[in-house]
Amino acid sequence: QGGVLAGKRGLIMGVANEKSIAWGIAKAAADQGAELAFTYQADSFAKRVRPLAESVGSDLLVRCDVSDDADLDRAFQEIAEHWDGLDFIVHAIAYSDKTQLKGRYLDTTRQNFRHTLSISAYSFTAVAQRAQPLMREGGSLLTLTYLGAERVAPNYNVMGVAKAALEASVRYMAADLGPRGIRVNALSAGPMRTLAGSAIADARFTFRWSAEQAPLHRNVDLEEVGQSALYLLSDLSAGVTGEVHHVDGGYHAIAMPHPDRVNT
Ligand code: NAD
Repeated sequence: QGGVLAGKRGLIMGVANEKSIAWGIAKAAADQGAELAFTYQADSFAKRVRPLAESVGSDLLVRCDVSDDADLDRAFQEIAEHWDGLDFIVHAIAYSDKTQLKGRYLDTTRQNFRHTLSISAYSFTAVAQRAQPLMREGGSLLTLTYLGAERVAPNYNVMGVAKAALEASVRYMAADLGPRGIRVNALSAGPMRTLAGSAIADARFTFRWSAEQAPLHRNVDLEEVGQSALYLLSDLSAGVTGEVHHVDGGYHAIAMPHPDRVNT
């Protein structure tokens, strides 16, 4: 089979259902010839993830709760028992207490700050540690982020702080792993209608506003995010690392709405 990912093996982390960004990327990768494995958060997710994995010819499914180091160790051990090497990983995982994804950032508790950063930022580093020995011939690590890391987005709150840490970790790991030919990048997606996306208060407003103000005058879809991820996962981006690539219809480029596009 041909395709830009032909002959490559990739691990997809973060599929919850068919709307998950991880799933959009998995489909695009499979279409381009990649052989895929999947992780899922907990047993209750398996029944949704298994048929999706099977539909792209994958039967390597491993449970992995990224908040637990022992679970991460076991998951990567299981993968290493089946595969002697790994070419890419998609990390599309985030979590925060929904009650703090509204109102003021200022009110974030220490416990939720710690938990949010552990799952949404540190877990990518924990994954990279365990992926490194499997990426003997180099590889590509990709995580998902959002503009709320760079600027204030309403209600995004502690998740914005976590994404800022995640984006910084992309740069540090790019430096650490570059000599081994492992590239580390982030894809900054515009708002998408997913489980995680709907946990943020006023998600509908964000969705409408971004579509109105983005240069392309619409939001992006799963397929477009998948296509852009192909570039970062494949040798097409062989010279790219430490990058945050925006796939958001150009929204990040706008400083202020055009007067024709606001009803004031
Ligand atoms: P989603 O709900 O489909 O995916 C989130 C995934 O995180 C789920 O599969 C869930 O099982 C997993 N997860 C949470 N805690 C975990 C844990 N402890 N261990 C293992 N897995 C865990 O939503 P999504 O929007 O596809 O989110 C994927 C990524 O994309 C996230 O990092 C999110 O912040 C990012 N992102 C989302 C948007 C958006 O608007 N939806 C925009 C930009 C970036």
